Amino acid sequence: MSENGQKALQLPSIITVRDLAKVVDTSPIQVIKILMSNGVMASINQSVDFDTAAVVASELGFDASLETAEIETEEVETGEVPLWRKTIQSEDPKNLINRPPVVTILGHVDHGKTSLLDAIRHTTVAAGEAGGITQHIGAYQIEHKGRNITFLDTPGHAAFTAMRARGAQGADIVILVVAANDGVMPQTREAIAHARAARVPIIVALNKMDRPDANPDFVKRQLAENGLVPDEWDGDTLVVPVSAKQKTGLEDLMEAILLVTDSMKIEANPNGKVIGTIIESQIDRAKGVLATLLVQNGTLETGNIVVAGSAYGRIRAMEDFKGKKLRKAGPSTPVLVMGLNECPSAGDPFQVYELDREARQAVEAYKQKEQQKQVAVPSATLEDLFNRFKAGETRELCLVIKADVQGSLEPIINSLNDLEQTEIKIRILHAETGNISESDVMLAAASHGIVVGFNVQADSAARRLAEAEGISIRLYNIIYRLIEDIEKALKGMLEPVYKEVVIGKALILASFHISKIGTIAGCKVTHGEFRRNAKVRILRDDKEFYKGELSSLKHEKEDVREVRTGFECGMAFKGSPDFQIGDTVECYIMELATS
Ligand code: GDP
Repeated sequence: MSENGQKALQLPSIITVRDLAKVVDTSPIQVIKILMSNGVMASINQSVDFDTAAVVASELGFDASLETAEIETEEVETGEVPLWRKTIQSEDPKNLINRPPVVTILGHVDHGKTSLLDAIRHTTVAAGEAGGITQHIGAYQIEHKGRNITFLDTPGHAAFTAMRARGAQGADIVILVVAANDGVMPQTREAIAHARAARVPIIVALNKMDRPDANPDFVKRQLAENGLVPDEWDGDTLVVPVSAKQKTGLEDLMEAILLVTDSMKIEANPNGKVIGTIIESQIDRAKGVLATLLVQNGTLETGNIVVAGSAYGRIRAMEDFKGKKLRKAGPSTPVLVMGLNECPSAGDPFQVYELDREARQAVEAYKQKEQQKQVAVPSATLEDLFNRFKAGETRELCLVIKADVQGSLEPIINSLNDLEQTEIKIRILHAETGNISESDVMLAAASHGIVVGFNVQADSAARRLAEAEGISIRLYNIIYRLIEDIEKALKGMLEPVYKEVVIGKALILASFHISKIGTIAGCKVTHGEFRRNAKVRILRDDKEFYKGELSSLKHEKEDVREVRTGFECGMAFKGSPDFQIGDTVECYIMELATS
């Protein structure tokens, strides 16, 4: 029984009305009626998403939670064992020794992932070391009771998901941060599913225990309902109360990590094949490509030839997370490496090759494989989808719908359900109020669907992911246009319309000349944001005299991907336009027109 006296029930992320009726032990007609009273029109064979099913279940006396196990099996089937794990498995067991655990922190937004990473770093690393860590390289190591623990310092699951998606999960242990005053939330469930799919054990950090509204027992019950039964209830999940703000419970958390480490085999052969995972990378004008590598087997040395995807090079220099020069780095050590010819992607595996020729061959083989993949991976613009319909590859148009208010969502769903569905069916994967987020795009990407927004915006992370995955986000502010477009899409008549959308404005305050780069405009961003990859135009007295792209975007000498309102930055433009102090720069992107 749950908190409110309702019966606990696990539901999959998508369920047909018929199946839902079965699990809640009622007639399909009853389910359809409840759906209708909530503004959802669905027939007996149509599917509803988890959130919708949960509402129905709740009205019938059930407290539904997402069936994480189902997501797990789905993902495990498709997920590969990462290369580094395979390499370690293939080592002769007598050469294996214990290595520090690699820990990643996951959890719902605002539950305190960043605060916890900072608290751990400050209390355990910087103590006694004036200045502590001077640079963020995406990972750091701490010492607890004479033993090292490596933390991946990339909160949010972006890095972890990227790693998983490429079958190169880097972590040995996941710390799931759950705010004691907020409990299990959608991204908490998502994180549980990801960790399970990667077969990585979970330790729960019950954060914000200092808050007067912290309710640890309630959260523990929720965790148990999601398959994480706390050890104090005879389960096998360690649940450690902490406060990142007051820096309490951190010792216990480190203790828990070592306990879990000791119950697993976290090993590697320091003399074996050198292999690991890329944590992050960036370009530095002076130093070239800087990449953070996590060594997982063998020992990486300066002078080694490294290949990661299509990036390759001889390691010129290596530093640890404190900026200290290193010549060698053993298993579980994160290092900042200089010498690669291009930025490798986070989550890519890397390997060391003896010979330059072998390394070049590996890069070529990788490039060829990628080219084949590009041909094979179907993108999901409406137009591509129609081609796939025609080719008979798919019979569904999967939609993720976001609207400003419930009052707009309902008529949209109703009208979509009213559309004549011939051979091609509309399947609503998810419909919710709120702006379009990264997880909406991820959901659409998982089923080659598209994201439709009504009177909402897509946040920048969502736009970036959509661009990378080739997922279409279509924004509307008139319902019938939205419906009309979907109808056209079903018939394959949709033409994409693009327009320029200004996302940022800046004022040129200074101009400098730098020999290799050219003239740099010292600017202050006055509105929105500037993105390194977006397009720009320069205006003088409101008249445009340059339209092009940035060749460099810097904030305090660092190359950056974006700069927001209020910040100063240096911009260089392709084609060296003749700008002056006082000119305005606009940053814009091409977006599908809102109808
Ligand atoms: P993230 O989105 O998970 O990385 O969360 P953040 O670390 O950015 O924290 C979100 C908010 O919660 C911030 O305002 C923090 O100051 C606050 N916060 C984080 N940890 C604690 C805690 O232990 N206690 C309290 N009271 N607030 C916290």
